[in-house]
Amino acid sequence: MRVAVVGAAGRMGRLVVGAILDAPDLHLAAAFGREGAAASGSDAGTLCGRAPAGVSLRPVGDVVADVWVDFSLPAGLDLALNHIRPGVPLVTGTTGLDARLRDRLDATAATRPLVAAANFSTGVALLRSLARIAASTLPSADVEIIETHHRHKRDAPSGTALALASDVAASRGVDLASVIDHGRHGETGPRAEGRIGMHALRGGDINGDHTVWLAMDGETVSLSHRATARSTFAMGALRAARWLVGRPPGRYTMDDVLGLGAVGAEDAFTRS
Ligand code: NAD
Repeated sequence: MRVAVVGAAGRMGRLVVGAILDAPDLHLAAAFGREGAAASGSDAGTLCGRAPAGVSLRPVGDVVADVWVDFSLPAGLDLALNHIRPGVPLVTGTTGLDARLRDRLDATAATRPLVAAANFSTGVALLRSLARIAASTLPSADVEIIETHHRHKRDAPSGTALALASDVAASRGVDLASVIDHGRHGETGPRAEGRIGMHALRGGDINGDHTVWLAMDGETVSLSHRATARSTFAMGALRAARWLVGRPPGRYTMDDVLGLGAVGAEDAFTRS
């Protein structure tokens, strides 16, 4: 299976390229990076600490591939959508997308199989299921979502945190935008019923921690997930890539890939 990688010189991209080079069933078809990037022209294998792969980092362009995997920035995903051939499956983990790019993803799913996920870990898919159960079982609990990431992360809150908030809102039959509170500051007054609090911590080299905290009179419930290695996202994305090839066009979720059944809420990762 020939895989093209967008953002191949990035933290995630290098893990994806390394996993492709290590996998006997996968072949690195292209390694795309930002135009003018310092690593342009470097061998993709060398960039991820492997033997030279004979594939140089180059700007996003045309390639013969069975599937594309994107972990870049919104601009990189935009370019990928310009260049990916008709019908070729796309896996993207890029977060912080604006409304126009979200619409582009929706449109492209009409013509190709697509998995766009804020988080490719199996544990997070399970956490989302548990959050949906908790939100509907405890309908009056005050819900706060806390996410923690490394100092390099560019968008906040994380796409995963937004997906969890979307799960909670959908389970309660409310519109997320009308109940979410991003942080607190100043004279906030008492907490209003039904709100979903969202808090983003940044620092160090944390791969990604997410907690859904539900507080009631007399008890609290905390549902938490911790990613201890970023390679879990790369492996999950390649699992999605293998699963997507040969599927009919459409937008699929990690629940589909993992066989966890229908999701209760649309993946909200694309909200910026
Ligand atoms: P990073 O900054 O290390 O890497 C991003 C790479 O994209 C860089 O090498 C950059 O040069 C490249 N890039 C930027 N613009 C480009 C363009 N126009 N064309 C081609 N390449 C371009 O970031 P990262 O930590 O690897 O994360 C990448 C993305 O993946 C972020 O949006 C992050 O939030 C997301 N992410 C998702 C998951 C998940 O499981 N879905 C996990 C981790 C990170």
